[in-house]
Amino acid sequence: MPATLAPPTTAIARPLPTAEPTRPAHVAVRALAKSYRTGSDPVPVLRGVDFAVAPGEMVSIVGQSGSGKSTLLHLMGLLDSPDIGEVTLRGERIDDLPERARDRLRNHVFGYVFQFYHLLPELDVLENVLAPLMIRDGFFAYLRNRKAYREQAEAIVARVGLSHRVRHKPKQLSGGEMQRTAIARALVTKPEVLLADEPTGNLDANTGAGILELLSELNRDDGLSIVFVTHDASLAARGHRTVKLVDGRVEEAD
Ligand code: ADP
Ligand code: MG
Repeated sequence: MPATLAPPTTAIARPLPTAEPTRPAHVAVRALAKSYRTGSDPVPVLRGVDFAVAPGEMVSIVGQSGSGKSTLLHLMGLLDSPDIGEVTLRGERIDDLPERARDRLRNHVFGYVFQFYHLLPELDVLENVLAPLMIRDGFFAYLRNRKAYREQAEAIVARVGLSHRVRHKPKQLSGGEMQRTAIARALVTKPEVLLADEPTGNLDANTGAGILELLSELNRDDGLSIVFVTHDASLAARGHRTVKLVDGRVEEAD
């Protein structure tokens, strides 16, 4: 009998499993709590936040001003320490590591992008992008690798669409170009996780959409895990998933 006439096997008839196997978290926070002490009483900002980012995932964080979005991003990226709870990278706790190890992770694993770019005004685009390598390696090690680093930085500047601006200083750039420079600077150390705090907060809608398009490309093409904060619902929807902070806790928005 020809194979094409064979009855369907039970294997074909069996329904596919509906649930995806759980992916291990890339970065996660568990039971995270943080208060700030301004007057005599501590003011709680995060009150038990649980939140995980899968490898290659792009997650948006939304929430009212003052809801703790920046605080959460800072804790995830080891820029600050939680009062309670933990931060893990591929399942290993990282928030309680010695300062040197935390420094290493800040320089090698995380990339940071902020609303106000924080570029060095005296340096041009290429020099701003090179700065993290100089800081990470120290001046003499940097000098030894200078040629390779320049090529690396030039490639990243091209990647963010600024090859025609390498010798421009920040004040000669538009807001979108400054943010592209800041993104290139965050990428030059080849991070695994990009943390972006309102990267479009100071940009008009079109320019902001262009920045989100760039982040989406980096996520899709390079597998970069991305967590970004935004006030804009249409930009938040560019993530695979949106997390909302309400009263110091996470409410999954979709
Ligand atoms: P968001 O980014 O969602 O606007 P933040 O995480 O910046 O919120 O801040 C949450 C709350 O914590 C705010 O009420 C803010 O005033 C307060 N806060 C943030 N950083 C500090 C700090 N370093 N010292 C005291 N209070 C702070
Ligand atoms: Mg903020």
